[in-house]
Amino acid sequence: MTEHLYPTDSYRREFDAVVTATEGQAVALERTAFYPGGGGQPHDLGTLTWQGGAAKVIKVQKQGDEVWHTLDGDVPPVGTSVHGVLDWQRRYQLMRTHTALHVLCGVVWRDYGALVTGGNMDPLQGRMDFEFETMHKELVAEIEATVNAEIEKAHPLRVATLPREQAFQIPDLIRTKINLLPPQIQEVRTVEIVGLDLQADGGTHVANTREVGRVRVVDYKSKGAINKRIYIELDAEA
Ligand SMILES: [Zn+2]
Repeated sequence: MTEHLYPTDSYRREFDAVVTATEGQAVALERTAFYPGGGGQPHDLGTLTWQGGAAKVIKVQKQGDEVWHTLDGDVPPVGTSVHGVLDWQRRYQLMRTHTALHVLCGVVWRDYGALVTGGNMDPLQGRMDFEFETMHKELVAEIEATVNAEIEKAHPLRVATLPREQAFQIPDLIRTKINLLPPQIQEVRTVEIVGLDLQADGGTHVANTREVGRVRVVDYKSKGAINKRIYIELDAEA
């Protein structure tokens, strides 16, 4: 079973670990800071190095509690001590983008009562689908202005782990698909933008909204009678 470093320390960009299993080009490690993907956030990229060897991590996947790192090149055998380094620029951009989507989600719910139905992201760009009947230029401009105003308020983010029963009592979590969690999941990780948004979430986020920088709403699209998609972009630097 892999110890996951990213849920409690999203700023961790290097770590040491021992290879616990191999399968073709993939290795499992006793611990990892590589995010395996999920919730619309892509998996991390980076490198593993060890005495006499090095390989790029080109894919990361979670299988049960194990995290598998697919390598491009040599595969170190079980028992090898390795040093993992994330492609930090890309991961930090994803943390900023992920956090921006939560701000958007919080604003749209608070100000318009519209639920999120889906989302996805790449570094510095993301999209989110909402249950909106109409979407138009003025509304989009208003949402963009409010999102940036909230980012500038420098809200801290808080990450917590709650027992399932307790999480299911929180109205904000119930509206964000917590019901879809498989019954065997007994603990729920929550990510809160204090004062704005609370979600059950396994991804990585920044510690304060000021790290997000300016958000631009670059497009919107109708994806059905009650589904509207909003596209955002972030600047390379906050
Ligand atoms: Zn999220």
